[in-house]
Amino acid sequence: MRLTLLGTGSADGWPNPWCECASCGWARVHGPRGQTAVLVDGRLLLDFGPDVPRAAARFGVSLAGLRHVLIGHAHPDHLGPDALMWRSWSSVAQEPLDIVAPPAALDVCRTFLRRWEGREPGTDGSPLRLLPAVAGGPLELGEPGEADEPGEAGEAGSDGGSRYLVRPVAARHGGADIGPAVLYDVTAPDGARLLYGCDTAAPLPPETLAALTGRAFDVVLLEENNGDRPGFGEHLDLPSFTGLVAQLRGLGAVGPGTRVLAVHLSHRNPPGDELARRLAELGAQAPPDGTVLDIPAGSASAPMPAPMRAAPLSAPAAAPSPETARRILITGGTRSGKSAHAEHQLLAEPDVVYVATGRPADGSDADWAARIQTHRDRRPGRWATVETLDLEPLLRSPGPPLLIDSISLWVAARLEEPDFAQSVAGLVDAWRATRRRVVAVTDEAGSGPVAPTPLGRRFVDRLGEVNARLAAESDEVWLAVAGVPVRLRPR
Ligand SMILES: [Zn+2]
Ligand SMILES: [Zn+2]
Ligand SMILES: [Zn+2]
Repeated sequence: MRLTLLGTGSADGWPNPWCECASCGWARVHGPRGQTAVLVDGRLLLDFGPDVPRAAARFGVSLAGLRHVLIGHAHPDHLGPDALMWRSWSSVAQEPLDIVAPPAALDVCRTFLRRWEGREPGTDGSPLRLLPAVAGGPLELGEPGEADEPGEAGEAGSDGGSRYLVRPVAARHGGADIGPAVLYDVTAPDGARLLYGCDTAAPLPPETLAALTGRAFDVVLLEENNGDRPGFGEHLDLPSFTGLVAQLRGLGAVGPGTRVLAVHLSHRNPPGDELARRLAELGAQAPPDGTVLDIPAGSASAPMPAPMRAAPLSAPAAAPSPETARRILITGGTRSGKSAHAEHQLLAEPDVVYVATGRPADGSDADWAARIQTHRDRRPGRWATVETLDLEPLLRSPGPPLLIDSISLWVAARLEEPDFAQSVAGLVDAWRATRRRVVAVTDEAGSGPVAPTPLGRRFVDRLGEVNARLAAESDEVWLAVAGVPVRLRPR
């Protein structure tokens, strides 16, 4: 499946052309985003806003091969029927074209075509076919391959056919004026599976969650209109986007290798570089308009998303954000924001085991108890907590991601044991070999004055060594300073 992102922006685009907020200023300089629309294999188009024809022209993409258009709902940024008139003046005016949309959107197309073409779609030689999209009613578009049995309603094969299997599912979006909106579950002829989740708020309707369970999509495009400013329309913001990605992971709709892309982005988001960082923490990305992505069938079950070979058709607007890493070490001083940054890395995971290596609150130290409570309040309730110094067995066994807080407390607890060196060697080996995602927090040794006691000096020395050995075996190393996480490696 080849995706061409014709647009990744909100209804008003990003920047909003009238707006002078900081987020719009960034987008104006680093690359604007038009209304969200995605071309699949040059044959199938997801959403059909008025920006589509211009975006295709700007990125050097021909729409001549387009045979199926899927529209999520009748809001005007998803539905620009005037493009059908421009098509009727082209060299492919008589080639068939399916328009799949909820009834209210089909009505808009029908009214437009009556007005400007003077005929009903499908009559008087019109090559257009209007097909209602109804949640739960699967559609087969295009021709099956040779190996397919006639009338077989199974998954698409990889036998050269051009058949797309399309399942509309209910969105949490729409209303009395436009009727229900739908999202699309699309299986391409090569078997690759895509979820197009645009537009919707959370939570998704129960029947949609049931329909998506176990689908193991290879790519998920999910709207994230509202960023840090919730409350505009029925849209996702960063926290609800995060929660929905976690839920889809929990349901098996998103696998470890699924590429999760945020679309329908507006200036309610933080500036693009900050957004890229925040999305990367969730294993998600927001590639620029014009990006071309090849998504192989079966990607969802890969250990993590394949490196993104995004080919922007225009000059790259924003660097692709980093991939999800398996071993992440986050160091920093006290109250530097290192624990919060560690937690953000795993917020989009359905299950996380929080491994506390510090001594539990026993009532003897009110300040210590308050610190532990602050950390606990910040973590999602669904996370499990394990209090242990036995990190090796956890790292060596399969299971949900681990958040280890912290390596420094582990060193402090183990320092005076006679087999300390062996414990460190075991920890580093298990860290290197682990098959789990693991984020570990540690303290940056030696930023303060030299410790006055021999034990204090020994602690700083050993902690520095352990940090360096773990960092050498980490996919990513971060330093938190004054609440700002800085990635040290890879640079
Ligand atoms: Zn929209
Ligand atoms: Zn703005
Ligand atoms: Zn909408």
